[in-house]
Amino acid sequence: MKLANPDLLKFQNYIDGAWRAAERTMAVCDPASGELLGNVADGTAADAEAAVAAATAALPEWRRRTAGERAATLKRWYQLIVENSEDLARILTLEQGKPLAEAQGEILYGASFIEWFAEECRRAYGQTIPTHNPAMRLSTIRQPVGVVSCITPWNFPNAMITRKAAPALAAGCTVVIKPAQETPLSALALCQLADEAGLPKGTLNVVTGSDAAGIGRVLTQDPRVAKFTFTGSTPVGKLLMAQCASTVKKMSMELGGNAPFIVFDDADMDTAVKACMATKFRNAGQVCVATNRIYVHQAVHDEFVEKLRSEVAALKIGHGTEAGVNMGPMIFRRAVERVQNLVQDAVASGARIELGGEQLPNGENYFAPTLLTGVTDAMRIATEENFGPVAAVQKFTDEADVIRRANATPYGLAAYVMSENIRRANRVVEALEYGMVACNTGVFSTTVAPFGGNKESGIGREGGVEGMAEFYETKYCCFGA
Ligand code: NAP
Repeated sequence: MKLANPDLLKFQNYIDGAWRAAERTMAVCDPASGELLGNVADGTAADAEAAVAAATAALPEWRRRTAGERAATLKRWYQLIVENSEDLARILTLEQGKPLAEAQGEILYGASFIEWFAEECRRAYGQTIPTHNPAMRLSTIRQPVGVVSCITPWNFPNAMITRKAAPALAAGCTVVIKPAQETPLSALALCQLADEAGLPKGTLNVVTGSDAAGIGRVLTQDPRVAKFTFTGSTPVGKLLMAQCASTVKKMSMELGGNAPFIVFDDADMDTAVKACMATKFRNAGQVCVATNRIYVHQAVHDEFVEKLRSEVAALKIGHGTEAGVNMGPMIFRRAVERVQNLVQDAVASGARIELGGEQLPNGENYFAPTLLTGVTDAMRIATEENFGPVAAVQKFTDEADVIRRANATPYGLAAYVMSENIRRANRVVEALEYGMVACNTGVFSTTVAPFGGNKESGIGREGGVEGMAEFYETKYCCFGA
């Protein structure tokens, strides 16, 4: 891999401010070509324990620093990420597959959390509370929760780390991260820049490894860890929540979704199609807030499908580093098989393939951007998160009915509403049981707003003032006069 700054390519764990080899290594490959990118430390539970010990030892000094001092270090980290963004994007594309332009967007989005939380930590105000008793003085202070452990997924290998690590570090916590085994290089490159920025040793630690269960047990059960934060699938999230129960850890969970995308007959069709393309085919559909169920009013169904078809047909598929490519491969073979399976199941139950529906000859991880019509709520493609480039369209006729159908899922992460009628838009946005609702746009994630889900899509929020609050304990102080 050719980089302007070859120092960013690291293959060892980053523990206690040092690069440490593990007993074994694991291969990291380009999902587009299968080419070996390098062999990375295959860390174990023992490495995770060493990282927790380092984070525990680093905590008193880091939390004692003023918010301004922590902010200055974090801002240096932010600056270095921006300066190295092209190399970081290249690493990301090669290990994850998304087009370079998307990877560059993710690096800057990821960096924005560091900049924003560096500023926000200066405003960790407590309160003076009007007392209930003249002989007492009441107040609150906010203190860092302690050592924070994180497990992150492969679909956003940079931003899912900074969205957790930045507020934690800004609050005065120390951090241990296990990235997904497919995408460890982005995590390690971030550590290299944190090191250059002067983050004290032990403050940020990364353990890469294929023994997710073993490493995960340490991160969820070690009593020295105060808070666990996870982004990934709902089944794994439930397991990890149960593991956290033994030591009553604070938890944040960013889990799976099943996003409805509702197009009313008063929608602007070009806006709706543009939004649908953005939320469905970005990162080959491997996005937790990706549209999963597209409900289109029957009066505009055919027009919407035709417009969507021509946009989908125009997508350029290929290796993420090639110029002009809009969609790369999926992350691994079993993701392709899963999507293929869901499409076949839908077709067997009466859905129609308008476009795509099969693997592409580019490589074993490529699946064609696919458009299905005639989908129903009973099909697996509508009840399960397809996490792939498949747009599954259904019809509706009635507002109350489509709201009921959109809400009829255990998930509650993101939903989309397309309507030019402001009263309807307000009514529907409020009625949807989701943590995030986007109206007349397909792109809404930002550092400054709270990201997270209702129901089985998660607990807590990342980003915004809510994202900062997750890493503080509020202490109530009562002084007798
Ligand atoms: P996943 O299988 O749950 O994996 C996520 C992380 O959990 C990886 O680091 C994985 O490690 C680790 N893991 C797996 N099994 C574990 C265990 N038994 N103990 C400890 N750690 C374990 O999820 P995924 O398939 O990679 O990611 C896709 C899912 O993430 C989708 O459902 C998506 O919706 C969700 N997601 C949610 C958000 C959000 O903000 N709500 C954002 C992005 C993705 P290995 O890589 O080593 O297996």
